[in-house]
Amino acid sequence: MAEERHVFTKDTAKRLCDRVASICSKPDCKAPTKGPHSDGESAINVGMACHIHAASPGGPRYDVNQTEEDRRSIHNGIWLCRTCGTLIDTDEDRFPAPLLRAWRAEAELAAFKTIGKPAAAFGAPTDATGGVRMSADAVEYMRFLMDDFIENNFRDHRNRWFGLKSHDEPIPNELRALGLVQIQGMRNDPRLSLTDAGVAWIMRMRQL
Ligand SMILES: [Zn+2]
Repeated sequence: MAEERHVFTKDTAKRLCDRVASICSKPDCKAPTKGPHSDGESAINVGMACHIHAASPGGPRYDVNQTEEDRRSIHNGIWLCRTCGTLIDTDEDRFPAPLLRAWRAEAELAAFKTIGKPAAAFGAPTDATGGVRMSADAVEYMRFLMDDFIENNFRDHRNRWFGLKSHDEPIPNELRALGLVQIQGMRNDPRLSLTDAGVAWIMRMRQL
């Protein structure tokens, strides 16, 4: 006999979505998940109410000690876009339950902070560092990467590498610590490229 899946009710799923303003809760995603359908009447949804501990045995992060009520509870859920929702269930070691709870808490706090406030207060950056705390030299380095990125017509940043003198150069490492660049290569061939977060920073700065 098939095991029963302890899924969320529609109401629970809706509240999970509403509590994060229908934005994906993965911190480096934050994709909006709802919008208008081309039929002019209905809405489309690319988000999903995901289980932190799986709804049935054998599923990701399944917790045998949970009751059916626990499994269906809103506290066992997190709102994610479909891509992130699939991702967390295909690699459960990388995405353990405490991490997912932290994402949810952060996403709910972010939604709460912006509720009822004009979008202008949160959209474009208000300072030269794009809302990221970094040194003036680091900003200058990012500006260099930004100019290159724009000059190259926004081509795939993953395949564009910049040679470094060493793996220990302070500015590239400051940017790496912020998640804006990645550094790879052998000891004698260190190189740097923009990450998705680095590109997001550039796109934000272009609004200035
Ligand atoms: Zn996402």
